[in-house]
Amino acid sequence: MVTAPDGAATGHEPARPDISLGPRARVALQLGSVGRPVIKVWALSVLLAGLAVFVYARAVRDLVPLATPIDLPWPAIAGLFCIGELLDVQVHFRRETHAFSLSEFPTVIGLFFLEPSTYLVALLVGSGVALAIQSRGHHPVKLAFNLSDLALNGTLALAIFHALVDVTGPPGPPAWIAAGAATLTTSVVAAVAIAAAISLSGGAPQFQKLPEMIQFGGLVALANTSLALLAVSILWIHTEAIWLLIVPVATLFVAYRAYVSEREKHERLELLYASSRILQNSPQLDSALVALLAHAREMFRAELAEIVLYPRNELGEGLRTRSTQEGEPEVMAPIALAAADPVRQRIVQGGAAFLHAPTRGWRARSPEIRQAMTCPLVGERGLIGEMTVANRLTQGTSFLGDDLRLLEMVASQAAAALENGQLEQSLAELSRLKEQLRHQAYHDSLTGLPNRALFTEQVETRLAHAAGGSPLTPVVLFLDLDDFKVVNDTLGHAAGDRLLVAVAERVAGCVRIGDLAARLGGDEFAILLEDRPDLGRAIAVAHRIIDALQAPFQIQGKEVVVGGSIGIAVPRDAEERAHDLLRKADMAMYTAKADGKRRLAVFDPTVHASIVARHELSAELAGSIARAELAVHYQPIVDLTTLQLTGVEALVRWNHPVHGLVPPDDFVRLAEENGTILELGRWVVVEACDQVMQWKRAGILRDPVALCLNLSPIQLQEPTFVEDIEGILQRTGFDPNELVVEMTETAMFRDSQATIAKLEELRARGMRIAVDDFGTGYSSLGYLRRFPVDILKIARDFVVPAASQPEDWAFAHAIVALGRTLGLTIIAEGIEEPGQLDRLRELGCQMGQGFLLGRPVPPDDLESVLRANAAAADAIMAAARAGTIRAGWPQMPETVELARLRG
Ligand code: C2E
Ligand code: CA
Ligand code: CA
Repeated sequence: MVTAPDGAATGHEPARPDISLGPRARVALQLGSVGRPVIKVWALSVLLAGLAVFVYARAVRDLVPLATPIDLPWPAIAGLFCIGELLDVQVHFRRETHAFSLSEFPTVIGLFFLEPSTYLVALLVGSGVALAIQSRGHHPVKLAFNLSDLALNGTLALAIFHALVDVTGPPGPPAWIAAGAATLTTSVVAAVAIAAAISLSGGAPQFQKLPEMIQFGGLVALANTSLALLAVSILWIHTEAIWLLIVPVATLFVAYRAYVSEREKHERLELLYASSRILQNSPQLDSALVALLAHAREMFRAELAEIVLYPRNELGEGLRTRSTQEGEPEVMAPIALAAADPVRQRIVQGGAAFLHAPTRGWRARSPEIRQAMTCPLVGERGLIGEMTVANRLTQGTSFLGDDLRLLEMVASQAAAALENGQLEQSLAELSRLKEQLRHQAYHDSLTGLPNRALFTEQVETRLAHAAGGSPLTPVVLFLDLDDFKVVNDTLGHAAGDRLLVAVAERVAGCVRIGDLAARLGGDEFAILLEDRPDLGRAIAVAHRIIDALQAPFQIQGKEVVVGGSIGIAVPRDAEERAHDLLRKADMAMYTAKADGKRRLAVFDPTVHASIVARHELSAELAGSIARAELAVHYQPIVDLTTLQLTGVEALVRWNHPVHGLVPPDDFVRLAEENGTILELGRWVVVEACDQVMQWKRAGILRDPVALCLNLSPIQLQEPTFVEDIEGILQRTGFDPNELVVEMTETAMFRDSQATIAKLEELRARGMRIAVDDFGTGYSSLGYLRRFPVDILKIARDFVVPAASQPEDWAFAHAIVALGRTLGLTIIAEGIEEPGQLDRLRELGCQMGQGFLLGRPVPPDDLESVLRANAAAADAIMAAARAGTIRAGWPQMPETVELARLRG
């Protein structure tokens, strides 16, 4: 009888829903319910039916029945056809299905004993009933194809048989050959028709498999035919003896079954072996699972195989690895998996493999699954997930108990692999995390430098070595950036972070292997190195770092300048601990800062106390305004030619209840660091404006004066800064034209774009801009041109003592010349000696301030001086006009008056 490979399994066409051509053809065809493949199969069916009618009309209709000794009732043969069709035995070779049936038996008997047309009726009715039963729920084209195929087979068999047979007595060898030729031919024709149907329905072409199909089918057909011929001879000669054949026929049938099941068992073992090999050979768990699932699909002739790992907790997601016929496999993809998922529930409760058709819940998870078997994945530590194989490719067949048992075995292999793999993976993950944690615990995430923990640990180790008699001693350098806070506040944290990274790089570049550069936090870095007691190398390294930091950084397209101050400490003795050493270096760093930034200092126990105080100060500063501890002192600014008071600089003071008067150098930086500067700066503006207006109203200040206010860049960065100042001026009635805003070069230089914009706004409202401490920072002509600047204040450093060389004045000279070229007003700061005043006047400097001309004093003091000074100036001018004194500052009587200001 006909055999055919399973076309669907080899088909590329994933069309669903499937229909199959049913058991008669032993083929499963995957067809779309509509569309060209179906139409083609319909056409083929019509063609086969047409051929059958043609053969019938030409070669069968007029055939003469054989003269037989007995008449068999056609329904008996029809019944045999029906039974033979229903009792087919399928054998699966991997993705192919071959089928045996005993159909040759009724065929051969019918050919001999039935009148040709009656034979066709028996064939079509008997097989038709079986087909109809088996085709329930399938596409009608399947039944149509099978019936027309049957009709063609039947007519062909009749034509061939009758063409060859010549029976006058009991059938002999010629009749046998005729019967064999008939069954063989129909075998071949059926195989061709099925292959054509599969190809037409979109499956892979089956023709190259034809020889194999025919060979296998031919053998079975031959055996069946021989048995059937035996039956014919018995019926012909000794009808009753036919019952004796029941046993051999049944035995043959059982033997087929046994053969098939043996084969399948063997196949299963091979498959199981293959799956364990797959798991062992795949180095990666993921790829092993995918390979195993693909293998399982073949094994069970299924469309889809998947493994779902259950979430560890009820809320989590499951992980699905899935292999399907077409498309990329899915690997460990998270899927929503409710605890109420019906399949999962059944797995959890039942703990065994089971077959199932889609229920509503299952459909929600995998709508593509029509029929499936699912099996728990049980590892040593219990249920870890499920394995599902779904959608049998061979239509009309479903998963059976055998498949379930096989799946259970595959699943147990998978579970073991998964558990081992998971174990390995989680172990690897754990050690990776541990390493990462260790690194995190010991390194600064921003700069990648070792952190405080690692640094202290290393210092401890070196201290222990030193105690062991090493000639070198561990040295700790403590680096703190100057004005980092300002950069952070003006340019933002991102810029601050970039700067820290850049600083870290430069610092790391200044030390050598064996030294340790660490970031302690914020803008604090520490360096550990070993040196001889004279600290030669430590100091050299510190200088190198300070120099390296001097060069501007390129941050967000802007040049940023920050310096660094370094404190150095060496252990007093071997007993000293790491944190003591760090603290000492920290204190030395503060000394370095206090001495002027960008310096280094080696720890000296005597400065200890003042630094401790500094830390406390910062905390107290916040409440200082509320406690009215702040005051503004005023320092006169004088026209160097006329000696007239042309302005005052407001300088903030903190009258600390314990420490007394704290100078701004000691707390302005703290205020900038802790943010108090905004409130403080605002308070100074209000206070100073109020004060000057008071003097104006009192008539002590008759001429317009310049009120010079020192600004921190942080204040300027406030979005409402300009409006705030404007508001204060309006409320106090202060004329913006009399207000001078002072800022240092370095402060201006930071975030120059934004600063320029703000300063322009102030200027547009009438205020003037002064560059404070000019010459100490990044003085360049370029920026003087870009910045809205009206006044340059020559830093104290360039107003040199009388004892110095004439060429030391070169800088002051240059600044005055520069100011004149650019049309700027120059104010010299720190004039303490009459010689300096003379020199500045010679240079053409217009204005000055300094202890000689007047110290910063509280408002009340200035008020009395202002009164006296106004009178004195009048007197001087009168005397000068009268010619009673010669020109030249030191001799002038006003020194008496101004001396009072020097205090
Ligand atoms: P500065 O703006 O350069 O102020 C001048 C400093 O020089 C004042 O120090 C003043 O007392 C001092 N000084 C004036 N004449 C002489 C002199 O002849 N010889 C010497 N050796 N020093 C002289 P002070 O008041 O201690 O202020 C220090 C710095 O604090 C100021 O330097 C300024 O940068 C800052 N500062 C003061 N008040 C404020 C303020 O309200 N806001 C801000 N942001 N900073 C302020
Ligand atoms: Ca100033
Ligand atoms: Ca200054």
